Amino acid sequence: MLVNPIKWPNGARCAAAITFDMDSDSILYSDHPERASTMVGTASWLRYDQVAVPRILRLYQKHNIKQTFFVPGWTAENYPEVVREIVSEGHEVALHGYLHEKPNTLSREIEGYWFNKSVDAIARVTHQQPLGFRAPSYRFSKHTLGHLLDAGVLYDSSLMSDDVPYLLVDRDSERSLIELPTDWSRDDWPQYTNNSELGYRMPIKSPKAAMDVFMAEFDAAWIHGALWIAVWHPFVSGRLARLMAVDEMIQYMKAKGDVWFAPLCEIARYVQQQVDQGGYTPRRDPLPFHG
Ligand code: ZN
Repeated sequence: MLVNPIKWPNGARCAAAITFDMDSDSILYSDHPERASTMVGTASWLRYDQVAVPRILRLYQKHNIKQTFFVPGWTAENYPEVVREIVSEGHEVALHGYLHEKPNTLSREIEGYWFNKSVDAIARVTHQQPLGFRAPSYRFSKHTLGHLLDAGVLYDSSLMSDDVPYLLVDRDSERSLIELPTDWSRDDWPQYTNNSELGYRMPIKSPKAAMDVFMAEFDAAWIHGALWIAVWHPFVSGRLARLMAVDEMIQYMKAKGDVWFAPLCEIARYVQQQVDQGGYTPRRDPLPFHG
């Protein structure tokens, strides 16, 4: 089904990355600035991240895998110990806005202001230069690519136009960066989130039902040689029953064999290397889409 497959390293059938977006209560302060301080119950739901992230790190340790966490700058500044634990365990911390602001609701200048502030915050807390970006709520704007290119970001993982890595190309400058695409079918939000105060009214699925959706995507990626990226949230998928299902999922994936688990920065570096060596010619997707 793939017309332009990529050869994964060491004979792997597919690449798999579990990415967690550690939003915590940043989304309250961006979406409800006046009411945020009074939304204690909802904040407590989001602040479960502090319990869930260390638990996820222990799970990764058990399976000896390294993965990626997208963290808003504000969240890194307010929960630096948790973020430093992610780094000390050898995982990647990547960009996810400053206050989880939605880029496509902002002017080019305002978006750039918050973007640069997020780069500074992540670099300061992690002592590392972030290499990747995911737009909060997937709200990539028509200016986002320019900001990423100006900052020397290696890859984006917000967009959804392919099953394998491709290139986002800026029409004006011809500069490009690597897109590591995902899809709503691999996001835990539609499966699990129900919060009346924030207006999320999804009927909560059992971990088994949610895993059926995620695993159908994984099995297809394994058969066809695609890239499988899960977009999950610690306060959502890090709950006990759901993370038990993730544990079983990783065991299933490992038993299946020939799966390359890697943080997204490593996958992006591999793709870049393949492009440079002529081993892979990714599809080019120009932005803006219509001239
Ligand atoms: Zn987010």
